[in-house]
Amino acid sequence: MEARGLEAGPRSQFWLMSMRCCIMAGSVDVAFFFIFHHFGSPILAWINVASVVMYATAYVALKKRHNRLALLLIWLEVLVHAALGTLLIGWHSGFHYYLLMFIPALFAGARSVRRAAASVFCLWLFYITLISVMRWVEPIEPIPDRALVAVNLFNLTAVFMMFSYLSVYYMKTVQQAHRVLRQMATTDPLTRLFNRRHMTELAALDIAGDGQSSPAVAFLLMDIDHFKQLNDRFGHEFGDRILCAISQIISDALRDNEYVGRWGGEEFLAVLPGTNTEQAKLVAERVRAAVAEYDWSQYELTAAVTLSIGVSRHLPGEAFSDSVARADAALYVSKGSGRNRVEVADGPSPINPGEMLGARDGLISAS
Ligand code: GH3
Ligand code: MG
Ligand code: MG
Repeated sequence: MEARGLEAGPRSQFWLMSMRCCIMAGSVDVAFFFIFHHFGSPILAWINVASVVMYATAYVALKKRHNRLALLLIWLEVLVHAALGTLLIGWHSGFHYYLLMFIPALFAGARSVRRAAASVFCLWLFYITLISVMRWVEPIEPIPDRALVAVNLFNLTAVFMMFSYLSVYYMKTVQQAHRVLRQMATTDPLTRLFNRRHMTELAALDIAGDGQSSPAVAFLLMDIDHFKQLNDRFGHEFGDRILCAISQIISDALRDNEYVGRWGGEEFLAVLPGTNTEQAKLVAERVRAAVAEYDWSQYELTAAVTLSIGVSRHLPGEAFSDSVARADAALYVSKGSGRNRVEVADGPSPINPGEMLGARDGLISAS
């Protein structure tokens, strides 16, 4: 679903860009009507009136989502206008410049590169034919030289402006796609928190700078208590809403330089850079209390939803996974000690959850 959303964005923007191009091209043709009227070239003046009508129709068609009809009209207008303009007043009019503008537009709007390439090939044939014809045929309705230079400059300027607009559109489309992809790669779609992969990347960066000038990085591993019961009683969707609410409460309870991600189903990991064990324990206690004291009656719950939290501090030379494993063991102890509690792992070696009691006696201290 996300992937489809990614495609819908740039495509709908493509049609919006096409509508704007219709307005720009139509305005250019309005200006041309007056220019050719002034130079006493009535045929070209009326061709531009027809062009304005075609662009206006294409604009309305795009608005009503008749995209194929609109594209057909735009193609027809540019091809016929370029051909007639060139045949009437000559190659140096520069009407052929507009044909080149189709090359990036064709690739941007195409569903496949092959189809776009085929269309560009047809365009190339058209261009080559036009240039060849003009080598042998004299302009049908020539205009004075100075007027021809003016028309050429006008066409060149219009094409420069339209190319610039297209380039801005491509740049923005790529930037937007990059943003969407980055968000998809780094965040959990339900809670909007960082996902496990991104948390691992961020934590690795913090650990790399660990112990140099600031105290160690601390970790809080948090697990919702009896969450399965909530799901079983009120449904999975309700469970999802609780997950989102808890994500928000945890985020709000953390300080600016601290961050939290969804570590697993109903588990969250917070990273507290430059935090020693005592401070981490205080933060964990604050988070635990914020969840437990939250007004859960707005979810029509009579009892509070609670979190159990395991705290660990990164030890010099220790792998990130080992720090988290110690927080996990502390969390396990917290569960075994009645839940809705904070436990701190302060020993160096990972605790085997199966040896919970031993761990509680030695490496773990209750809050
Ligand atoms: P404990 O206090 O020991 O942690 O008990 P628990 O019920 O929270 O733990 P358990 O591991 O038995 O169950 C976790 C449940 O979390 C089971 C799973 O269906 C649910 N869960 C995991 N991910 C999601 C999710 O994205 N949405 C919902 N609604 N439930 C989820
Ligand atoms: Mg749980
Ligand atoms: Mg769990």
